[in-house]
Amino acid sequence: MDTNPLFTAALGLIPPWCVVRTDFRPEQRLLEMQVDFKPGSRFACPDCGSKDCGVHDTVEKRWRHMDFFQHQAYIIARVPRVQCPGCGVRLIAVPWARPGSGFTLLMEGLILEMSRSMPIRNIAQLVRVSDNRVWRVIQHYVDDAVSRIDCSKVTVVGVDETSAKKRHDYISCFFDMTHKRLVFATEGREHQVVAAFARFLGEHGGDASAVTEVSCDMSPAFIKGVRDFLPEAEVTFDKFHVSKILGDAVERVRRSEWRTDKTVKGGRYALLKNPANLTPFQREQLKDITARNAALAEVYRRKETFRDLYRQPDIVAAKGFLKGWIATAMNSTLKPLIKAAKSINHRAKGILRWYTTHMTNAVLEGLNSLLQAAKRKARGYRLHRTFITMAYLIAGKLELRAPSPFACLTATH
Ligand SMILES: [Zn+2]
Repeated sequence: MDTNPLFTAALGLIPPWCVVRTDFRPEQRLLEMQVDFKPGSRFACPDCGSKDCGVHDTVEKRWRHMDFFQHQAYIIARVPRVQCPGCGVRLIAVPWARPGSGFTLLMEGLILEMSRSMPIRNIAQLVRVSDNRVWRVIQHYVDDAVSRIDCSKVTVVGVDETSAKKRHDYISCFFDMTHKRLVFATEGREHQVVAAFARFLGEHGGDASAVTEVSCDMSPAFIKGVRDFLPEAEVTFDKFHVSKILGDAVERVRRSEWRTDKTVKGGRYALLKNPANLTPFQREQLKDITARNAALAEVYRRKETFRDLYRQPDIVAAKGFLKGWIATAMNSTLKPLIKAAKSINHRAKGILRWYTTHMTNAVLEGLNSLLQAAKRKARGYRLHRTFITMAYLIAGKLELRAPSPFACLTATH
Protein backbone atom coordinates (compact mmCIF):
# COMPACT_ATOMS: atom_id res chain seq x y z
CA MET A 1 0.00 0.00 0.00
CA ASP A 2 1.25 3.45 -0.91
CA THR A 3 0.99 5.43 2.33
CA ASN A 4 2.31 8.68 0.81
CA PRO A 5 -1.15 10.12 -0.01
CA LEU A 6 -2.25 9.26 3.52
CA PHE A 7 0.66 11.18 5.09
CA THR A 8 0.17 14.03 2.61
CA ALA A 9 -3.44 14.36 3.76
CA ALA A 10 -2.54 13.93 7.43
CA LEU A 11 0.00 16.75 7.22
CA GLY A 12 -2.56 18.90 5.43
CA LEU A 13 -0.28 19.46 2.44
CA ILE A 14 -1.69 20.93 -0.71
CA PRO A 15 -0.14 20.95 -4.19
CA PRO A 16 2.53 21.41 -5.26
CA TRP A 17 3.64 19.82 -1.97
CA CYS A 18 3.22 16.16 -1.16
CA VAL A 19 4.89 13.39 0.80
CA VAL A 20 7.09 11.37 -1.53
CA ARG A 21 8.72 8.94 0.89
CA THR A 22 8.44 7.91 4.53
CA ASP A 23 11.22 6.32 6.44
CA PHE A 24 10.07 4.55 9.59
CA ARG A 25 12.84 3.32 11.92
CA PRO A 26 11.19 1.74 14.98
CA GLU A 27 14.54 0.83 16.61
CA GLN A 28 15.45 4.55 16.64
CA ARG A 29 11.86 5.57 17.37
CA LEU A 30 11.99 7.79 14.35
CA LEU A 31 9.66 8.66 11.51
CA GLU A 32 10.96 10.80 8.69
CA MET A 33 8.63 12.15 6.05
CA GLN A 34 10.23 13.37 2.88
CA VAL A 35 8.15 16.17 1.37
CA ASP A 36 8.72 17.46 -2.13
CA PHE A 37 7.18 19.69 -4.77
CA LYS A 38 6.18 18.65 -8.25
CA PRO A 39 8.93 19.22 -10.82
CA GLY A 40 8.40 22.38 -12.83
CA SER A 41 6.47 24.10 -9.99
CA ARG A 42 6.72 27.86 -9.77
CA PHE A 43 6.56 29.84 -6.52
CA ALA A 44 5.93 33.39 -5.32
CA CYS A 45 8.90 35.54 -4.25
CA PRO A 46 8.89 35.78 -0.41
CA ASP A 47 10.03 39.42 -0.50
CA CYS A 48 7.96 41.18 -3.17
CA GLY A 49 5.19 38.61 -3.65
CA SER A 50 5.86 38.45 -7.38
CA LYS A 51 4.20 35.20 -8.52
CA ASP A 52 5.40 32.59 -10.89
CA CYS A 53 9.12 32.63 -10.16
CA GLY A 54 11.18 29.75 -11.41
CA VAL A 55 13.25 27.57 -9.07
CA HIS A 56 16.95 28.46 -9.02
CA ASP A 57 18.12 25.65 -6.71
CA THR A 58 17.06 23.97 -3.46
CA VAL A 59 18.28 23.72 0.14
CA GLU A 60 17.48 20.67 2.25
CA LYS A 61 15.84 21.46 5.59
CA ARG A 62 14.42 19.47 8.46
CA TRP A 63 11.60 20.27 10.93
CA ARG A 64 10.55 18.53 14.08
CA HIS A 65 6.87 17.60 13.95
CA MET A 66 4.56 16.23 16.61
CA ASP A 67 5.35 12.71 17.71
CA PHE A 68 3.88 9.86 15.73
CA PHE A 69 2.82 7.77 18.73
CA GLN A 70 6.10 7.33 20.64
CA HIS A 71 8.23 8.07 17.57
CA GLN A 72 9.84 11.41 16.91
CA ALA A 73 8.57 12.69 13.59
CA TYR A 74 10.46 14.91 11.18
CA ILE A 75 9.58 16.54 7.91
CA ILE A 76 12.44 16.78 5.47
CA ALA A 77 12.17 18.82 2.29
CA ARG A 78 14.29 20.46 -0.34
CA VAL A 79 13.18 24.08 -0.13
CA PRO A 80 13.35 26.01 -3.38
CA ARG A 81 15.27 29.21 -3.81
CA VAL A 82 13.45 31.14 -6.48
CA GLN A 83 14.89 33.42 -9.10
CA CYS A 84 12.89 36.66 -8.75
CA PRO A 85 13.34 39.20 -11.56
CA GLY A 86 13.25 42.06 -9.01
CA CYS A 87 14.88 40.63 -5.88
CA GLY A 88 17.27 37.99 -7.15
CA VAL A 89 17.62 34.54 -5.57
CA ARG A 90 15.35 34.10 -2.49
CA LEU A 91 14.51 31.14 -0.22
CA ILE A 92 10.75 30.63 -0.19
CA ALA A 93 8.62 30.15 2.94
CA VAL A 94 7.09 26.69 3.28
CA PRO A 95 3.47 26.47 4.39
CA TRP A 96 4.11 24.16 7.37
CA ALA A 97 6.73 26.19 9.24
CA ARG A 98 7.84 29.70 10.12
CA PRO A 99 10.99 30.88 8.38
CA GLY A 100 13.98 30.06 10.56
CA SER A 101 12.10 27.68 12.88
CA GLY A 102 13.13 24.05 13.22
CA PHE A 103 9.60 23.09 14.31
CA THR A 104 6.50 22.70 12.19
CA LEU A 105 3.67 25.15 12.92
CA LEU A 106 1.60 22.36 14.42
CA MET A 107 4.46 21.51 16.79
CA GLU A 108 4.82 25.16 17.78
CA GLY A 109 1.08 25.31 18.41
CA LEU A 110 1.36 22.32 20.70
CA ILE A 111 4.32 23.83 22.60
CA LEU A 112 2.39 27.07 23.08
CA GLU A 113 -0.67 25.22 24.26
CA MET A 114 1.42 23.36 26.83
CA SER A 115 3.16 26.53 28.00
CA ARG A 116 -0.14 27.73 29.42
CA SER A 117 -0.04 25.16 32.16
CA MET A 118 3.40 23.50 32.22
CA PRO A 119 6.89 24.63 33.20
CA ILE A 120 9.15 25.02 30.16
CA ARG A 121 11.49 22.40 31.51
CA ASN A 122 8.74 19.76 31.49
CA ILE A 123 7.70 20.67 27.96
CA ALA A 124 11.30 20.33 26.83
CA GLN A 125 11.53 16.90 28.46
CA LEU A 126 8.25 15.81 26.92
CA VAL A 127 9.14 16.80 23.36
CA ARG A 128 12.79 15.82 23.94
CA VAL A 129 14.44 19.06 22.87
CA SER A 130 16.50 21.58 24.81
CA ASP A 131 14.92 24.19 27.08
CA ASN A 132 16.41 26.87 24.87
CA ARG A 133 14.63 25.66 21.76
CA VAL A 134 11.30 25.68 23.61
CA TRP A 135 12.05 29.18 24.91
CA ARG A 136 12.77 30.44 21.42
CA VAL A 137 9.37 29.27 20.17
CA ILE A 138 7.50 30.78 23.10
CA GLN A 139 9.46 33.99 22.90
CA HIS A 140 8.52 34.41 19.25
CA TYR A 141 4.78 34.21 19.94
CA VAL A 142 4.97 36.23 23.16
CA ASP A 143 6.97 38.99 21.43
CA ASP A 144 4.41 39.02 18.66
CA ALA A 145 1.53 39.32 21.15
CA VAL A 146 3.39 42.00 23.16
CA SER A 147 3.90 44.03 20.00
CA ARG A 148 0.11 44.09 19.65
CA ILE A 149 -0.66 45.14 23.27
CA ASP A 150 -3.14 48.01 23.20
CA CYS A 151 -2.42 50.66 25.83
CA SER A 152 -5.07 53.13 24.71
CA LYS A 153 -7.10 52.58 27.90
CA VAL A 154 -4.24 52.50 30.40
CA THR A 155 -4.88 55.19 33.03
CA VAL A 156 -4.37 53.49 36.39
CA VAL A 157 -1.03 51.81 36.91
CA GLY A 158 0.66 49.75 39.61
CA VAL A 159 4.41 49.31 39.52
CA ASP A 160 6.56 46.97 41.55
CA GLU A 161 9.90 45.25 41.36
CA THR A 162 10.65 41.56 41.50
CA SER A 163 14.01 39.88 41.82
CA ALA A 164 15.09 38.18 38.62
CA LYS A 165 18.15 35.98 38.82
CA LYS A 166 19.23 36.57 42.38
CA ARG A 167 18.97 39.26 45.01
CA HIS A 168 19.96 42.73 43.86
CA ASP A 169 18.94 41.96 40.30
CA TYR A 170 15.55 43.36 39.47
CA ILE A 171 12.76 43.47 36.90
CA SER A 172 10.16 46.25 37.17
CA CYS A 173 6.59 45.28 36.30
CA PHE A 174 3.93 47.79 35.24
CA PHE A 175 0.38 46.65 35.69
CA ASP A 176 -2.79 48.03 34.11
CA MET A 177 -4.86 48.05 37.31
CA THR A 178 -8.17 48.57 35.51
CA HIS A 179 -7.78 45.51 33.30
CA LYS A 180 -5.66 43.63 35.84
CA ARG A 181 -2.87 42.70 33.51
CA LEU A 182 0.83 43.14 33.08
CA VAL A 183 1.48 45.57 30.24
CA PHE A 184 5.20 46.26 30.56
CA ALA A 185 8.19 44.65 32.22
CA THR A 186 11.79 45.75 32.00
CA GLU A 187 15.19 45.22 33.53
CA GLY A 188 16.22 47.39 36.51
CA ARG A 189 14.39 49.49 39.06
CA GLU A 190 15.89 52.93 38.49
CA HIS A 191 13.79 55.95 37.57
CA GLN A 192 14.57 55.32 33.87
CA VAL A 193 12.31 52.26 33.92
CA VAL A 194 9.39 54.69 34.15
CA ALA A 195 10.74 56.52 31.10
CA ALA A 196 10.85 53.19 29.22
CA PHE A 197 7.26 52.50 30.29
CA ALA A 198 6.14 55.95 29.07
CA ARG A 199 7.78 55.22 25.70
CA PHE A 200 6.09 51.81 25.52
CA LEU A 201 2.70 53.47 26.15
CA GLY A 202 3.32 55.85 23.27
CA GLU A 203 4.29 53.02 20.94
CA HIS A 204 1.17 51.03 21.82
CA GLY A 205 -1.60 53.53 21.30
CA GLY A 206 -1.42 54.93 24.83
CA ASP A 207 -0.27 58.19 26.31
CA ALA A 208 1.92 58.83 29.35
CA SER A 209 -0.13 61.90 30.20
CA ALA A 210 -3.33 59.80 30.29
CA VAL A 211 -2.02 57.98 33.36
CA THR A 212 -3.72 59.63 36.33
CA GLU A 213 -3.03 57.22 39.19
CA VAL A 214 0.05 55.21 40.10
CA SER A 215 0.47 52.82 42.98
CA CYS A 216 4.05 52.06 44.00
CA ASP A 217 6.40 51.59 46.92
CA MET A 218 8.23 54.52 48.52
CA SER A 219 11.46 54.04 46.58
CA PRO A 220 12.89 57.41 45.51
CA ALA A 221 13.57 55.98 42.03
CA PHE A 222 9.92 55.23 41.28
CA ILE A 223 8.83 58.55 42.81
CA LYS A 224 11.27 60.48 40.65
CA GLY A 225 10.37 58.40 37.57
CA VAL A 226 6.64 59.05 37.98
CA ARG A 227 7.21 62.77 38.56
CA ASP A 228 9.41 63.07 35.46
CA PHE A 229 7.69 60.78 32.99
CA LEU A 230 4.02 60.40 34.04
CA PRO A 231 3.31 64.10 34.56
CA GLU A 232 -0.43 63.83 35.30
CA ALA A 233 -0.20 60.94 37.75
CA GLU A 234 -0.98 61.13 41.46
CA VAL A 235 0.89 58.59 43.57
CA THR A 236 -0.64 56.25 46.11
CA PHE A 237 1.94 54.52 48.25
CA ASP A 238 1.14 50.87 48.59
CA LYS A 239 0.08 50.30 52.19
CA PHE A 240 1.99 47.05 52.62
CA HIS A 241 5.18 48.82 51.61
CA VAL A 242 4.38 51.69 54.01
CA SER A 243 3.86 49.22 56.86
CA LYS A 244 7.13 47.53 55.94
CA ILE A 245 9.00 50.70 56.94
CA LEU A 246 7.71 50.24 60.48
CA GLY A 247 8.50 46.55 60.41
CA ASP A 248 12.08 47.50 59.51
CA ALA A 249 12.18 49.99 62.40
CA VAL A 250 11.07 47.27 64.85
CA GLU A 251 13.74 44.95 63.49
CA ARG A 252 16.47 47.59 63.88
CA VAL A 253 15.48 48.23 67.47
CA ARG A 254 15.40 44.48 68.16
CA ARG A 255 18.92 44.08 66.79
CA SER A 256 20.34 46.87 68.89
CA GLU A 257 18.55 45.57 72.01
CA TRP A 258 19.93 42.13 71.35
CA ARG A 259 23.40 43.35 72.36
CA THR A 260 22.24 43.73 75.96
CA ASP A 261 19.17 41.51 76.06
CA LYS A 262 19.77 38.06 74.50
CA THR A 263 16.17 36.95 75.10
CA VAL A 264 14.89 39.06 72.20
CA LYS A 265 16.86 36.93 69.76
CA GLY A 266 14.05 34.60 68.67
CA GLY A 267 11.31 37.20 68.72
CA ARG A 268 11.59 38.47 65.18
CA TYR A 269 8.44 36.91 63.74
CA ALA A 270 6.40 37.49 66.87
CA LEU A 271 7.18 41.20 66.55
CA LEU A 272 6.71 41.48 62.78
CA LYS A 273 3.64 39.39 62.10
CA ASN A 274 0.11 40.66 62.21
CA PRO A 275 -1.01 39.82 65.80
CA ALA A 276 -4.05 38.02 64.40
CA ASN A 277 -1.75 35.49 62.71
CA LEU A 278 0.47 34.65 65.66
CA THR A 279 0.78 31.11 66.97
CA PRO A 280 0.04 30.65 70.69
CA PHE A 281 3.79 30.30 71.29
CA GLN A 282 4.57 33.53 69.42
CA ARG A 283 1.82 35.30 71.34
CA GLU A 284 3.48 34.32 74.60
CA GLN A 285 6.86 35.35 73.25
CA LEU A 286 5.50 38.74 72.23
CA LYS A 287 3.89 39.28 75.61
CA ASP A 288 7.14 38.39 77.32
CA ILE A 289 9.35 40.63 75.16
CA THR A 290 7.10 43.68 75.37
CA ALA A 291 6.76 43.23 79.15
CA ARG A 292 10.49 43.14 79.71
CA ASN A 293 11.94 45.39 77.01
CA ALA A 294 10.68 48.97 77.06
CA ALA A 295 12.26 50.01 73.74
CA LEU A 296 10.77 47.10 71.83
CA ALA A 297 7.42 47.62 73.53
CA GLU A 298 7.39 51.22 72.36
CA VAL A 299 8.34 50.65 68.73
CA TYR A 300 5.99 47.67 68.55
CA ARG A 301 3.09 49.73 69.90
CA ARG A 302 3.77 52.49 67.35
CA LYS A 303 3.87 49.96 64.51
CA GLU A 304 0.57 48.42 65.59
CA THR A 305 -1.29 51.69 66.15
CA PHE A 306 -0.24 52.76 62.64
CA ARG A 307 -2.63 50.11 61.27
CA ASP A 308 -5.49 52.31 62.50
CA LEU A 309 -4.54 54.87 59.86
CA TYR A 310 -6.36 52.68 57.35
CA ARG A 311 -9.45 52.34 59.56
CA GLN A 312 -10.40 56.02 59.75
CA PRO A 313 -13.88 57.08 58.55
CA ASP A 314 -12.53 59.54 55.97
CA ILE A 315 -9.44 61.35 54.75
CA VAL A 316 -9.92 64.29 57.16
CA ALA A 317 -9.95 61.95 60.14
CA ALA A 318 -7.01 60.05 58.64
CA LYS A 319 -5.02 63.25 58.25
CA GLY A 320 -5.62 64.11 61.90
CA PHE A 321 -4.71 60.60 63.00
CA LEU A 322 -1.50 60.62 60.97
CA LYS A 323 -0.45 63.99 62.36
CA GLY A 324 -0.91 62.73 65.91
CA TRP A 325 0.86 59.46 65.18
CA ILE A 326 3.87 61.26 63.66
CA ALA A 327 4.09 63.71 66.59
CA THR A 328 4.13 60.85 69.11
CA ALA A 329 6.71 58.87 67.14
CA MET A 330 8.96 61.92 66.74
CA ASN A 331 8.95 62.35 70.53
CA SER A 332 10.57 58.97 70.96
CA THR A 333 14.22 58.49 71.79
CA LEU A 334 14.46 55.50 69.42
CA LYS A 335 16.36 56.55 66.32
CA PRO A 336 14.91 53.91 63.94
CA LEU A 337 11.39 54.98 64.92
CA ILE A 338 12.15 58.68 64.42
CA LYS A 339 13.66 57.91 61.03
CA ALA A 340 10.58 55.93 59.97
CA ALA A 341 8.28 58.70 61.23
CA LYS A 342 10.24 61.29 59.23
CA SER A 343 9.94 59.35 56.02
CA ILE A 344 6.22 58.74 56.62
CA ASN A 345 5.78 62.47 57.28
CA HIS A 346 7.65 63.27 54.08
CA ARG A 347 5.40 60.93 52.06
CA ALA A 348 2.14 61.71 53.87
CA LYS A 349 0.33 62.95 50.76
CA GLY A 350 0.84 59.69 48.84
CA ILE A 351 0.04 57.63 51.92
CA LEU A 352 -3.25 59.47 52.47
CA ARG A 353 -4.06 59.19 48.76
CA TRP A 354 -5.22 55.68 49.61
CA TYR A 355 -8.40 57.25 50.97
CA THR A 356 -9.19 58.50 47.46
CA THR A 357 -8.06 55.54 45.34
CA HIS A 358 -8.04 52.51 47.66
CA MET A 359 -5.21 51.22 45.48
CA THR A 360 -2.79 48.59 46.69
CA ASN A 361 -0.23 46.43 44.94
CA ALA A 362 -1.80 43.21 46.22
CA VAL A 363 -2.40 42.00 42.66
CA LEU A 364 1.27 42.61 41.81
CA GLU A 365 2.37 40.76 44.91
CA GLY A 366 0.30 37.85 43.59
CA LEU A 367 2.15 37.97 40.27
CA ASN A 368 5.41 38.19 42.13
CA SER A 369 4.80 35.01 44.09
CA LEU A 370 3.74 33.14 40.91
CA LEU A 371 6.92 34.31 39.19
CA GLN A 372 9.15 33.33 42.07
CA ALA A 373 7.49 29.90 42.16
CA ALA A 374 8.03 29.50 38.40
CA LYS A 375 11.65 30.55 38.84
CA ARG A 376 12.22 27.87 41.46
CA LYS A 377 10.58 25.20 39.29
CA ALA A 378 12.42 25.85 36.05
CA ARG A 379 15.84 26.47 34.75
CA GLY A 380 16.20 28.88 31.87
CA TYR A 381 15.64 32.06 33.86
CA ARG A 382 19.28 32.97 33.49
CA LEU A 383 18.28 35.65 31.05
CA HIS A 384 16.14 38.63 31.93
CA ARG A 385 14.42 38.14 28.63
CA THR A 386 13.09 34.70 29.54
CA PHE A 387 12.02 35.99 32.95
CA ILE A 388 10.06 38.80 31.31
CA THR A 389 8.53 36.37 28.80
CA MET A 390 7.36 34.22 31.70
CA ALA A 391 5.89 37.27 33.45
CA TYR A 392 3.89 38.11 30.33
CA LEU A 393 2.72 34.50 30.00
CA ILE A 394 1.57 34.45 33.61
CA ALA A 395 -0.01 37.88 33.88
CA GLY A 396 -0.13 39.51 30.45
CA LYS A 397 -3.52 38.15 29.36
CA LEU A 398 -1.83 38.04 25.96
CA GLU A 399 -3.59 37.20 22.76
CA LEU A 400 -1.18 34.61 21.46
CA ARG A 401 -1.68 34.06 17.77
CA ALA A 402 -0.80 30.43 17.60
CA PRO A 403 -0.56 28.70 14.25
CA SER A 404 -3.65 26.74 13.23
CA PRO A 405 -5.37 24.54 14.19
CA PHE A 406 -4.83 26.15 17.60
CA ALA A 407 -6.27 29.26 16.02
CA CYS A 408 -6.16 31.71 18.90
CA LEU A 409 -5.08 31.10 22.46
CA THR A 410 -5.52 33.50 25.28
CA ALA A 411 -2.82 32.75 27.78
CA THR A 412 -4.28 32.48 31.24
CA HIS A 413 -2.71 30.81 34.21
ZN1 LIG B 1 10.90 39.51 -5.45
